[in-house]
Amino acid sequence: MDSAFDHVTLKKGTLLFAEGDPGTSAYLIRSGRIEIFVMRNGQAAVLANRTTGEIVGEMAIIDQRPRSAHARTATDCDLVLIKADQIANRIKQADPILQMYLNVVLSRYRETIAKLGNANGSTSLEAAPRIERFDTAIGTLSVESDLRRAIRSRELELYFQPIVNLQSGRLCGFESLLRWNHPVRGLIPPDDFIPIAEASGLIVDITSRCFEEIGRTFPEIMLAALRNIKSVDMLFLTVNISGHDLASDSFLHSLRSMLSTSGISASDIKLEITESVLLNDPKKAADTLKACREMGVGIAIDDFGTGYSSLSQLGTLPMTSIKIDQSFVRSMRNNPTSRRIIDMILRLAEEMEVSVVAEGIEYVEEEAILTKLGCEYGQGFYFGKPLPLHQTLDVCRNWVARGHLDQPATPRIARAI
Ligand code: C2E
Ligand code: CA
Ligand code: CA
Repeated sequence: MDSAFDHVTLKKGTLLFAEGDPGTSAYLIRSGRIEIFVMRNGQAAVLANRTTGEIVGEMAIIDQRPRSAHARTATDCDLVLIKADQIANRIKQADPILQMYLNVVLSRYRETIAKLGNANGSTSLEAAPRIERFDTAIGTLSVESDLRRAIRSRELELYFQPIVNLQSGRLCGFESLLRWNHPVRGLIPPDDFIPIAEASGLIVDITSRCFEEIGRTFPEIMLAALRNIKSVDMLFLTVNISGHDLASDSFLHSLRSMLSTSGISASDIKLEITESVLLNDPKKAADTLKACREMGVGIAIDDFGTGYSSLSQLGTLPMTSIKIDQSFVRSMRNNPTSRRIIDMILRLAEEMEVSVVAEGIEYVEEEAILTKLGCEYGQGFYFGKPLPLHQTLDVCRNWVARGHLDQPATPRIARAI
């Protein structure tokens, strides 16, 4: 019953859990009916019936107390399993007042059940609220379970996208970007699974595995770059980090252990963050970032200029660089305001002594404008798309640096890869 899979089919009359059991799972009913009952004087007193679209067993996993009643299938049932930590993590992130409120409501509910259980005969509670967006809930839960499996079977892989010194044309770093090589669905982009990984807390495990992978692969990338010192600088690597990472106790440990076992210098690693990292636990996030800076690790503000990254954080985050969001670069050619905003960000960065990377450069004209404006670094499909390790090694070996004046209209890689 307690399998790692989310869908469970049960025959009529199966006991799902008994009063006093620890609550390890809740069950979303896809079809069928479940009876909640207590045993009093050797008799089963039915408290409630739950049907399609309702949840059973949710209380024990919310307040971590033993089950207060038995549950059995009254018909054949198709259920979706919700594991305790899938809920616990979401509750931990909820507003403290909401958590308190939830606990009060649960206590009252348990008291009512106890009273009903003491009464003689069969009785029933009011119908539980149905899951309105049933399909969405099942979809999210299935991706989440699939992602757990994917982490274990190492289906997540880092790709690397070049970052270029615009003034010299030399390759100077990479951004690491996750991909999910799904056995059935093919290559899944991060926007389809990172938000679910963040909501479920799985992101912490994923980031720690990213660090392990970086420890294994980045020295290899640096070695390939050393064979092409004419066109490649000492490389840095940027890693995308979420608020849950910074709030977790294991984050600094996995970063430190990656640096010490791989021999990668702390100053070669930059963490890319957005303002949203401060949403969960601002104090812990700020402390973690401070510790990273003290180690020598760089901090880049990602998507700068958009809703998630704004001027308000310039004074609060210990940053070493800014990444101008691709929306400005995209509109720059036709919109003089975007160009003025970029110019303003560049002057601000100079004042604050932080470097600037312009993201999403796709055309030679965009590169030319940014170079002329004095932007130090650029990244985008014009220079190269994110690629897996073996192709990244080719990029390092074959990169050709040129000054922007004789910039060719094709990517700066000597031969096609
Ligand atoms: P991001 O950090 O802003 O990453 C840049 C995104 O822009 C990447 O999308 C990249 O492939 C894409 N991009 C780069 N150059 C161009 C260009 O010239 N044109 C266009 N149209 N797109 C360009 P990707 O790889 O799909 O990643 C999407 C987002 O997923 C990332 O946005 C980041 O927020 C998140 N992400 C990716 N990898 C990780 C990770 O390892 N951890 C975490 N926490 N988030 C990640
Ligand atoms: Ca990024
Ligand atoms: Ca970005």
